[in-house]
Amino acid sequence: MKLFSTLKFALTLTILFTSYAMASTPSSFDYKDQDTAFWEKVLKPDVYQICRAAGTEAAFSGQYDKFNEDGTYYCACCGGDFPLYSSKAKFDSGTGWPSFTEPISPQSVILTPEKSIFKRILGATTEVRCARCDSHLGHVFDDGPAPTHKRYCMNSLALAFTPAGKMPKRTFEVH
Ligand SMILES: [Zn+2]
Repeated sequence: MKLFSTLKFALTLTILFTSYAMASTPSSFDYKDQDTAFWEKVLKPDVYQICRAAGTEAAFSGQYDKFNEDGTYYCACCGGDFPLYSSKAKFDSGTGWPSFTEPISPQSVILTPEKSIFKRILGATTEVRCARCDSHLGHVFDDGPAPTHKRYCMNSLALAFTPAGKMPKRTFEVH
């Protein structure tokens, strides 16, 4: 009976410690549950305008349009360490926005029907959002090169590039 009590006590301690550890790690932070005030505090105004207000930067204005370094493009909105695209999938679409044939993983992004009728008329019918924070990234079109024939048309301001072999740097901390 004493052994059972000891085991039960040890188990309770393990559960409590695990719960505490999980609650205190940034990975448990729910980016999708944050309000406007949070994003206004942690993002620069131009990034906020794209990522949280579904804006579009002017063509040929973004830093990653004519940019061909090897590395990974992370989400600029949720802290710069969530991978979205590899430079291997990048191509020059001539549109003035950084373009990719595919995300780094199918789980990296969420595709949703574009709600703006104006944007749909312009051909942007499918919106691309970050799977971790639901940030607006851009749109995907069916006129990309082989093998996917997709063109993920992104806003540079929604991306944060890290060169190959380097660890991404967090742009803000969450606790
Ligand atoms: Zn994100």
